Amino acid sequence: MSFESLGLSAPVLQAVAEKGYTTPTLIQEKAIPICLMGRDVLGCAQTGTGKTASFVLPMIDILSEGRAKARMPRSLILEPTRELAAQVAENFEIYGKYHKLNMALLIGGVSFPDQERALERGADVLIATPGRLLDHFERGGILLNDVKILVIDEADRMLDMGFIPDVERIVATLPPLRQTLFFSATMPPEIKRLADRFLSNPKEVTVAPPASASKNIVQGLAVVPEEDKREALRALIKEQDIKNAIVFCNRKKDVAILQGSLKKHGFNAGALHGDMSQPARMETLEKFKQGEIQILVASDVAARGLDIVAMSHVFNFDVPFSPEDYVHRIGRTGRAGNTGHSFTLASPDEGGLVEAIEKLIGTEIPRVEVPGIETVAFEASDGRRRGRGRGRGGSSSSSRSRSSSSRPPREPRPEAEARPEREARPEREARPEREARAPREPRAERPPRQPRPEREPRPEREARPPRERRPERSDRADRPRQDRRERDDTPAPMGLGDHVPAFLARPTR
Ligand code: AMP
Repeated sequence: MSFESLGLSAPVLQAVAEKGYTTPTLIQEKAIPICLMGRDVLGCAQTGTGKTASFVLPMIDILSEGRAKARMPRSLILEPTRELAAQVAENFEIYGKYHKLNMALLIGGVSFPDQERALERGADVLIATPGRLLDHFERGGILLNDVKILVIDEADRMLDMGFIPDVERIVATLPPLRQTLFFSATMPPEIKRLADRFLSNPKEVTVAPPASASKNIVQGLAVVPEEDKREALRALIKEQDIKNAIVFCNRKKDVAILQGSLKKHGFNAGALHGDMSQPARMETLEKFKQGEIQILVASDVAARGLDIVAMSHVFNFDVPFSPEDYVHRIGRTGRAGNTGHSFTLASPDEGGLVEAIEKLIGTEIPRVEVPGIETVAFEASDGRRRGRGRGRGGSSSSSRSRSSSSRPPREPRPEAEARPEREARPEREARPEREARAPREPRAERPPRQPRPEREPRPEREARPPRERRPERSDRADRPRQDRRERDDTPAPMGLGDHVPAFLARPTR
């Protein structure tokens, strides 16, 4: 099938051709004609499938007629992370170059006045992370009554990051008569329920079995002692022919430590995690994209959905807590028809997590040895190892192996009953302090606006005594919100999660 047969306008087709795309991907082939008909879409597609263009291209054509009023965007795209939001904005710039659509990007870590100016100009396309959008909404800087198209992208990630209550609040302010495009890499029941609520008679488009790993990725997994992981990683990096690689850690404090360690050993490594300032995140990412940084050590929150052209390798320094994250992590490589490699370093107590991943992807991850590193087995739930590895990788010939990935599996998979309970894992890091919300601009400095929604004057949030702050707002992540995986040592409120009712937070006499 060709792009011409999808019903897109000539200017969009020209922009696509100039980008160098000749054939639509499967999701584009299926979703674009439905979007152009004005129907709701429930898309089950991973990043890397061309999903972004599947909604950006038809939106450009649909929005080409008409003009946005000040602070009343005509379309809204919700993304879980700033990087994804920025990537979607880039897509609009590339494919919309022959249209005069105004765009506003509302993400945390960037100053409010610039974003307010973009809203003031009238945004045909508003791309936002939920937290920052709500901040603008609560400041009265935006009205969503004119939104005709809503895109909820990476819905499962929104769920994972705890954004669904924010998304629900946002959707409740939108006109019910609209077109909704809802995308998720996986469709767990909670996401399906949400889709049922938000969508009206949607056409379902699935381009890959949920949570399947791309066939273009050669996977490997080595079980090594926790204390050998850094050495194992270095050995793998040296052994592999690496163009560029992301190394994922479960905890952001490990991101910094590992980056420091890699640099100390002479590797060209950068770091990306949710506690970094937005300009620093953008700068690191740009350097990585330009090839100035070869190895990017990252947390999940910073790296989800990143589209780095032809990334050769992904390393999991830790086995991700959620099996879906494994699919997303390794999906950073093997994109757009390229072959990629992923290696996971599992410690002996991570057998249960590995088993959950293998269940999800429907296949065993081939076991590999790391040259010079002892291969061990997963622990049984009683803490004992179920059989030992055969010593250090390559030690059978007392020389270091040069081919970890080509080795056959060395250890039998742990018995199901032997896997350690997830609960037995060491506590994850507790939620970190969220980035401070951007200071409010004094109201007097803001341009006069109209129309202004009817609302009670709000007290300045910063002026409130701490105990009177509404916990569900002040503790919200993604200004920028933090991933649940990135936690500090402060335990979360038991049983209530983020949503401590406001009355419980009021001071008592
Ligand atoms: P996405 O799933 O939207 O993150 O896209 C993954 C990658 O595929 C991006 O680098 C896109 O630029 C690229 N891409 C999107 N559509 C096409 C296409 N029709 N042909 C080739 N590459 C594409």
